[in-house]
Amino acid sequence: MNKTPATHYRIIPKDPAAHLFSVAIHVAEPDPKGQEISFATWIPGSYLIRDFSQHVEQMKALDQNGQELAVTPLSQSRWKIAPCQGRLTIHYYVYAWDLSVRGAHLDQQHGFFNGTSVFAEVCGLSDEPCLVDILPPKGVADSWKVYTSLNEAEGFENAAPRHGFGRYFARDYDELIDHPVEMGTPKTISFEAGGTEHELVFTGITPNIDLERIAADCQRICQTEIDMFEPQSRQAPFADTASRYVFMVMVTENGYGGLEHRSSTALMTGRNALPIKGKDQRTPEYTQFLGLVSHEYFHSWNVKRIKPQRFTPYDLSQATPTKLLWVFEGFTSYYDDLFLLRSGLIEQAEYLRLLERTINNVLPAAGARKQSIAQSSYDAGNKYYRQNENSPNAIVSYYTKGALTAMCLDLYLRAETDGQRSLDDVMRLMWQEYGRDFYKGNQAGIEEEGMVQIVREACDVDISDFVQCYVDGTEPLPLEELLFKSGSRVRLKKSPNSQGDAWLGLKTRKQCCQLMISHVAEGSPAHLGGLSGLDTLAAIDGLQVRPDNFETLMKHYRPGDEVTIYVFRRDELQAYRVVLGEMPAAYQLYVED
Ligand code: ZN
Repeated sequence: MNKTPATHYRIIPKDPAAHLFSVAIHVAEPDPKGQEISFATWIPGSYLIRDFSQHVEQMKALDQNGQELAVTPLSQSRWKIAPCQGRLTIHYYVYAWDLSVRGAHLDQQHGFFNGTSVFAEVCGLSDEPCLVDILPPKGVADSWKVYTSLNEAEGFENAAPRHGFGRYFARDYDELIDHPVEMGTPKTISFEAGGTEHELVFTGITPNIDLERIAADCQRICQTEIDMFEPQSRQAPFADTASRYVFMVMVTENGYGGLEHRSSTALMTGRNALPIKGKDQRTPEYTQFLGLVSHEYFHSWNVKRIKPQRFTPYDLSQATPTKLLWVFEGFTSYYDDLFLLRSGLIEQAEYLRLLERTINNVLPAAGARKQSIAQSSYDAGNKYYRQNENSPNAIVSYYTKGALTAMCLDLYLRAETDGQRSLDDVMRLMWQEYGRDFYKGNQAGIEEEGMVQIVREACDVDISDFVQCYVDGTEPLPLEELLFKSGSRVRLKKSPNSQGDAWLGLKTRKQCCQLMISHVAEGSPAHLGGLSGLDTLAAIDGLQVRPDNFETLMKHYRPGDEVTIYVFRRDELQAYRVVLGEMPAAYQLYVED
């Protein structure tokens, strides 16, 4: 038997109907001055302050004789427990009704949790190993199973069997909260890539889901990414953290999202995105799902092992902004669809359409001229995660513009080295110097201004000017020029709208049976005419606007026409004269003969 760790957690889905997990923490030798415990205020990978303690209820602390100890709050997320002799036990409940990849969710069908939602940190013992008993809810012990990349507590009493309830083990608190846990009766399938078992776990009702096809497609993505980072050994990077990699997929009507972890990922997808047995055609939604798989898997290297120095270690007590999300999310967003192409899951033409869509979303928005991607990275928690009707006018996405910047950097490196070096070489160098040994004790991270030096080392190219113009600055990305200079046969052009459609320059959102303006583009006819985000469209020139007729109504008009648009601003009817514009030209990618 191994030495018993100082901290021992126990979690039980106590009342699935009320969505309550019961958690106990046993601390063998609490701080004699009074043990402090704290909850994370954010979860790595998602940079909004979420204050997970908001869902914690009925906290109490007991000494080894069962005597209750005073629990004094030091802040919203930190408490001090009165000093005691011998073992300390802390009890609380967690309300788990957040169906997202970032929180915890429990009902009669399944349980899911991130450690940040349920496990308080025992201050002073964060670097020590801990045990975790994951126990079943009453009445389902035989049917529910456990899916997680957290290691079973091998060599300890009551060690969980594979997929079983029982005892698990984490080397430290950082590891404990980086292996989310799914429990229930999901559909599963496994495949091998890079010498590691990969498990796909689908929770939710999924009639006739084609597991074999999904597994085969994911296998190709995973192995292609592994081969880029480890062209010699072709080994997956997980041996240092777990015996497996787990994709936990929550299937809902139209959910979407993902969160990366060191040996697993939590995903959400719409039911219709998943392929059905016997139906072979690929839908755009399934391609998007595979892009999500590709994205989160790429994070296994880029942000879970290669990290910004600011995240080594994570400070979960407060926001920890970094300017480098353009690397960690932007590069990852560039590579996600690129790996669908490289693994043969999509054709070049489809890849160019995906890229074209990103280009047309990013480049025309006013925000791209006001905020750099370095600023966007730094302000992620405060701006990107708190978007409103004005956001496209004010900010830029370090995901989408980061992806286009990554593409430009890739083309730039190819151009400067006559095709001898590329962004792949940068990724491999970062992997070798920062990532490969991250969980073997080499916890260096990339400095805020470190990319110039890394690229110089990887490609012998100076990107100081590139960074100044396109990362720290907001100069328009030289896509056309770089496509040409890099030797690529792909070209970018702007093609004018040939239909003669009139243009307002606003986005709408259906709200009940009305159409609300969700965004007015800066400088657009809608803006110049006086319309605002959050106005509800009522009529155009005396004709009622409904969600189902707005586009058809607009087809009656030509650029240059002056129309009267009636809106409700709150509950007040207002009329605005708007001179309609011409639909802006769209970017098009094509392959030169
Ligand atoms: Zn990401």
